[in-house]
Order: sequence, then structure tokens, then C-alpha cells
Amino acid sequence: MNSEIIIIGAGFAGIALGIALKRAGIESFTILERSDAIGGVWRDNHYPGAACDVPSTFYSYSFDSDYPWSGRYGKQAEILDYLRQCATKHGITAHIRFNAEVAAADFDAQAGEWRVRTTAGEEQRARFLISAIGLFNRPIVPELRGRASFLGPQFHSAQWNDAVALDGKRVAVIGTGASAIQFVPAIAPRVAHLTVFQRSPPYVFPRLPGGAPPRGSLGALLRRKLDRLGIYLTFEKLNTRRRAEFETHATQGAFRTYLSAKVQDSAFRERLMPRYPFGCKRTLFSNDWYDTLLRENVDLVDTGIDAIVPEGVRSADGAVHEADVIIYGTGFSPAEFLLPMRITGNDGREIHDYWGDGAEAYLGMAVAGFPNFFMMYGPNTNVPGSIVFMLECQAGYIVQAIRALARRRARYMNLRKDIERCFNAELRARINAIGVLIAPECRSYFMTASRKITVQWPGFMSQYYWRTRKVRTADYEFAR
Ligand SMILES: Cc1cc2nc3c(=O)[nH]c(=O)nc-3n(C[C@H](O)[C@H](O)[C@H](O)COP(=O)(O)OP(=O)(O)OC[C@H]3O[C@@H](n4cnc5c(N)ncnc54)[C@H](O)[C@@H]3O)c2cc1C
Repeated sequence: MNSEIIIIGAGFAGIALGIALKRAGIESFTILERSDAIGGVWRDNHYPGAACDVPSTFYSYSFDSDYPWSGRYGKQAEILDYLRQCATKHGITAHIRFNAEVAAADFDAQAGEWRVRTTAGEEQRARFLISAIGLFNRPIVPELRGRASFLGPQFHSAQWNDAVALDGKRVAVIGTGASAIQFVPAIAPRVAHLTVFQRSPPYVFPRLPGGAPPRGSLGALLRRKLDRLGIYLTFEKLNTRRRAEFETHATQGAFRTYLSAKVQDSAFRERLMPRYPFGCKRTLFSNDWYDTLLRENVDLVDTGIDAIVPEGVRSADGAVHEADVIIYGTGFSPAEFLLPMRITGNDGREIHDYWGDGAEAYLGMAVAGFPNFFMMYGPNTNVPGSIVFMLECQAGYIVQAIRALARRRARYMNLRKDIERCFNAELRARINAIGVLIAPECRSYFMTASRKITVQWPGFMSQYYWRTRKVRTADYEFAR
């Protein structure tokens, strides 16, 4: 059965949009979800210690803040349960078709409709197509020599193998990114020995203090709102710090002081000191990362990896680090927007061909030549802060756009090319002005292989809010 609107993906984004549509009285939408359950990254990333690193009062929908979080930071199982509850409460679940992975979509300008095909070969038509597939859905396992020769189990943190018991085992962890700093402290006390392979030391700051959000009464609601505002401002400050050079230095100084308090051995401390300016990569938060690296049963190897061998991992200095299990905490490939889907616009051009050396979109959502198509968590919309905040901005904008088309009784709305050009030029200028994002020593998942920053929003969350608050219909051409 065809719907007016097809949403691809049932994570925080797809559910937020579903709720926004329902609130606007729009019922004709279908969410196609490739998996058999909702939740997106919170369904997939169930590794030990998985939790959000933005306090839950901010990392939750603004309109559904009363949830029994066990602490300041919701754990993976709680976040998943929260999403399920929201989907049920707002009547979204009935709109979801599970096990339906979208492979391709192309725009039929005559009909003003998207033809959407799943990997099973089914076809559906819809007036609007919204991608809500997230950024962190394609885990990367590095092409290390000899990987297939390893005798034990090996898996990526986003595909955690619960059947593998880690207790008393020798475990090698490759990577020291956002996931590793959560699961390494969680498994270290259980394993016999842990070898952590670090390519580039991250900035790891302590988490914001505080307990579980208050629940229930009107007073509790008010305190949650105030807490949300406080957290929001704290993260906005991280944005300012990326701007001015002296602020970057001040943060680096604060980090050095924190690290000195945690790690007394100056030689070891030096190995943990990031070699890139603060702000060039995602800031990490943990209270037990450095304590874990100091444990007797944990070794840090930072000489680089030469190869995987049958009995473990050989580092670049020739030493073999024996392991029973290898876990890849090597992250995702967020800069490859929309892949592997093929999205073809009204002039027969596939979106990746149109983008060339890296994705771009007006406000991270719209692309000229791809009418009635919007992305959530699209190019340059990642922030230090709550992505849920950004997704709510996008859901509100997209609902307004859908209404604008209906009001005009038009077939489709297409972003004006000059608006796109102007926005992209402004975006590049802002990214260049921030500097740390493109510092020569910076290598991050915010950028493509050609070093184009396609992931990060180069501004405050509030700037994004103001720019997406109202759809400027003059930015679009409407075709009847
Ligand atoms: C481990 C981890 C921790 C994180 N912690 C935080 C945090 O603390 N704070 C924060 O702000 N952000 C955090 N993030 C970022 C997180 O991705 C976003 O906050 C948010 O969950 C994004 O939601 P989404 O719906 O856009 O994407 P996702 O959660 O990735 O959901 C996308 C959905 O689309 C489906 N899908 C993908 N491709 C297709 C297809 N072709 N057809 C059909 N369905 C498809 C997927 O199966 C998935 O269900 C974290 C990410 C990870 C991986």
C-alpha cells in the first residue's frame, strides 16, 4: 500500500518525524526499517557499558522527558526501552514495516512521486521520501593483514557477540574511540588480560556530575527543564571553544591538568596526550578510562599494528600480543552519506554522482534536483551536544515543508540551486574559520578521504534551531 510519505529508518530520527507528523494530523506515512526492531544505534550497540554520553534529560525528546533513568546517563537498554515506549505511546509502531531495507529510490517528476525499491525487490510510491538512516549504521573493520588467520572469535563493538564469554580470557581491543572508552572499562575487571591498541590518543574528559533526573510532579518537570537548559549551555560552550584559538589552548590546558591528576607517570601520560588540537575530533567523556588503562591486567600498545596473526596481534615493533578474542572498537564511516542506497533525482542523476567529493545539503536536509526529498541527520548536522535536539529541529522543518506543498497543491518542491550554492559557500567559510576541524594534524570521521568536512555542523545548536525553525518557501521552486 502506498503512503504519502516514506521514512527510511526507525531510530530516534524516524520516530521523531513520525510523532511530528501525527501531531500535525498527517497519518499517511510508512517507516521502512531494515531490521526487525526499532531503535537504530541503540538496538545495535549493546556492548557492555553502552550508554549515552550526553545526560538523558537532554538526550531524549523534549516532549517526553519523564522516564525512570537509572542515572544521569541512560544505559543502552534504557534508551532502547525509552524509544519503544515513545513509539508505542505516540502510535508510531503501527506505521513501521520491519525487515524492509531500502535499496534505491528515483523521482518520477511527471507524477511528482518517489519510486522506492527495497532489497527484496518490492516497490512503493510516495510523494515525499525522508532518509532517517543515521550516520553510525555501517561499522568499519580495518583491512589488517592476516585478519582471517586469527584462531579465536573477533567482532566489531556494534556487532557484539554475546555468545563469546570474555571472563578469564585474553582480549585485544583495537581502537580507543567513543565505544572503546565505554566497553574497555566495563570488561577490564572480568578478563584475564586486556591489550588496548591505540592509534591516536583521544581527549577524554570526566562526565558531567549529577544523578538520575527527578520524576513525577510539576516541580520535577521544571527541574528537568532547567537541567536540560544547563546541559544545553554546557555543550554550546564546547562549540565556542572550538572557535577561538585561546579557548582551544585553555581547554587543552585544562585537559593536561586533569590527565596529570589521573596519571602520575609522566612517560605514560605523554603517550595519552592527544596530538591534535582540541575540537578536531569528537570529545569523549568517561570517569574510568584512565583508571582502566592503569590496571595491572591492561596494556596499552601504541606502536601501530603490523598484522593479525593466528595467536593474536603483532604490533609494528614485531611483538606478538597473544589474545583469545579480538574486539574492533574502530567506529563507523559516517561521512559516506546514504550509502549503499542509490537515490536518483529529477534529472536522472544519482545523488553521490551529484555530490562528487563529499555530501552537502541545505541545512543538512535538502539537495537541489532531488525534489520532495529530505534527510535527517544529514550532512553537517552532527554536533557536540544532543543529536536528538537536532533531529527535532529537522522533524519540525520537514513537517512544515510537507504542509507547504499541500497548501500550494503542487506536485513537488525543489530546492533552488542558488540557495544551495550560497549555503554551501557559507558553510565552507565557517568550517575554514573554525580551523581546528581542518588542522593538518587532524584526521577524523568528520571528514571524507579528500578531507572535506561533511559531518560536523560548524556552529551553535541554537543557530541550527533558528535557521530551521521556519521553512522559507522562497528557497524552493514549487511545480504544479
Ligand atoms: C554507540 C553510540 C553512542 C552514541 N551516543 C550518543 C550520545 O550520547 N549523544 C548523541 O547525541 N548522539 C549519540 N550517538 C549518535 C546517534 O547516532 C544519534 O544520537 C541518534 O541515535 C541517531 O538516530 P537516527 O535515527 O538518526 O539513526 P540510527 O539510530 O542509526 O537509526 C537509523 C535506522 O535506520 C535503519 N536503516 C539504515 N539503513 C536503512 C535502509 N537502507 N533501509 C531501511 N532502514 C535502514 C537502521 O537499521 C536504523 O534502525 C551515538 C551513536 C553511537 C553509535
